Amino acid sequence: MHVGIIGGGVAGLAAAYQLTKTGHTAEVFEQAPFLGGQASTFDVFGGRLERGYHHLFVSDTDITDLIHEIGLGGQLAWLESSVGFYLKDQGGTDSGGAGKIWDFATPLDLLRFKPISLRDRLTVGFWTLILQKTRNYRKFENITAKDWLTRRMGRRAYEVVWEPLLRGKFGAFYDKISMTWIWGKINLRVASRGKGGGRERLGYPMGSFGEVIDVVADKIAGQGGVVHTSATVNRIVETGGRATTLEVQLAGSETERREYDAIIATTPSYVFTRLAPAMPKEYQDKLEGIDYLSAVLMVLVLDRPFTNKYWLNIADPDMPFVALIEHTNLIDPKLYGGKHILYISNYPSRDSSLYKMPADELMDLFVPHLRKINPDFDRSWVIEHHHHRVDGAQPIVGVGYAQGIPDHRTPLKGLYLANTTQIYPEDRGTNYSVRMGNLVARMVMDDAGTP
Ligand SMILES: Cc1cc2nc3c(=O)[nH]c(=O)nc-3n(C[C@H](O)[C@H](O)[C@H](O)COP(=O)(O)OP(=O)(O)OC[C@H]3O[C@@H](n4cnc5c(N)ncnc54)[C@H](O)[C@@H]3O)c2cc1C
Repeated sequence: MHVGIIGGGVAGLAAAYQLTKTGHTAEVFEQAPFLGGQASTFDVFGGRLERGYHHLFVSDTDITDLIHEIGLGGQLAWLESSVGFYLKDQGGTDSGGAGKIWDFATPLDLLRFKPISLRDRLTVGFWTLILQKTRNYRKFENITAKDWLTRRMGRRAYEVVWEPLLRGKFGAFYDKISMTWIWGKINLRVASRGKGGGRERLGYPMGSFGEVIDVVADKIAGQGGVVHTSATVNRIVETGGRATTLEVQLAGSETERREYDAIIATTPSYVFTRLAPAMPKEYQDKLEGIDYLSAVLMVLVLDRPFTNKYWLNIADPDMPFVALIEHTNLIDPKLYGGKHILYISNYPSRDSSLYKMPADELMDLFVPHLRKINPDFDRSWVIEHHHHRVDGAQPIVGVGYAQGIPDHRTPLKGLYLANTTQIYPEDRGTNYSVRMGNLVARMVMDDAGTP
């Protein structure tokens, strides 16, 4: 079989790797000048760094298996992470609006978390344990996280601990999110704590996710596939009841048509609807029914550490960011010439002012807030800053989400869809894009009756 693949992110490359490994040919078209999509990297002081922070959980077995299979297992490190919770000034103190960073990595940290009463802390601990033990996520599908958490853990615990997390990831949609999403997060994180509920371990390929992606692309080429960058698919063309023709434009070339036995599209749904022929209404409604948020990231390269935490949740609605991820509190700064890397992250919608704001204005906005978290911080610590926007970064997982997921097999013969809206009940992540790429590649082969 000859399969055309739209998108050179993790899902597209995983599918191409599977197909070519099985003796088929695959041709990948990636519109950006680099591979990796949301997990792509750029160069920082001699090291490669993801545009958006990236790590793996212990439960991420599909990508871990792939990393071993392609010979990079020796590069995969599992490192102890440190998690903090920055809580807005609770009033009544003369703190000048500065809040406090609480350790938030272990069950003991929860017991010491004074902003909620001891009774609330015990209740949160109890229900978190129940969520960890629960396998049947279906019971959470039709209730919002807000309602479930408020009912079980109490209003104060919800407002202090959970609401900032939901607002952080989903902005204005925070009270629409299904409880399944929280269930998924708790299951993944806890698996990464190992036995005894100790500190979380997170995985990172020390040559970066970019190295994993490059090696997979090399393997695809070695197995007879072709991977193009700066190659845009403009249209999927339907002929004779099959949607297996692509209108593509390679760098510096005219638009041309290429024929395949099957096509796998890995773009976000709102891009797919622009490329593909009209679909029957029921399928089209599913494609259009799931919204996404974008990610806005500012990566600061600093001459010294900002905090001692890898992951800092920001529970202060007045701050223009929702998490600070200090990459070099997980990974040795030596990889980046001894510099320290801090991601400032937010998930706004594409029409928000934050999404549209240019880098220097964002810096002006962020700096005073950074100073509230670390009063010593000075802009002179910043050696350089990098601004990235990632569209389609986070599908919004509402109540009853499962019923709205479009099938991988589209109603058009030969055309398959594999994007992050179809990852469920887990939250999207590179592991699940690998799993989905493998699954859809197998589907294509099964449908064609090939081994
Ligand atoms: C800020 C951030 C942090 C994250 N952190 C983590 C983490 O810690 N751990 C983790 O595992 N995952 C993380 N993720 C999620 C993970 O990166 C994604 O789930 C995964 O990379 C998605 O891969 P994909 O191939 O499904 O989609 P994408 O990466 O979106 O790939 C789709 C590709 O299609 C291309 N494309 C679109 N239109 C066209 C066209 N017309 N022609 C050709 N090409 C086209 C795009 O350029 C893109 O490269 C994070 C994501 C973000 C945004």
